[in-house]
Amino acid sequence: MSPDGPAARGAEETEPCAVPGCGADSVRHLALAEARKAFSNLPEKGRRAPLCRDHYREWKKATKGARKLDRLGW
Ligand SMILES: [Zn+2]
Repeated sequence: MSPDGPAARGAEETEPCAVPGCGADSVRHLALAEARKAFSNLPEKGRRAPLCRDHYREWKKATKGARKLDRLGW
């Protein structure tokens, strides 16, 4: 078995956050159309938008209503 290194994760390799000017490590991937509900300036690149933790939180705030937050301040 290979160690759990960066190359060992197959499809879940880390991509930089898609928000222009950010570029932090992504923690979630959203469909580009979903991500654009909060970030209209995302580049048209692929169908998915990787988001870093901070921008994922912003996205959740921007789209709340569709989905209840489990907890505030996670
Ligand atoms: Zn980001």
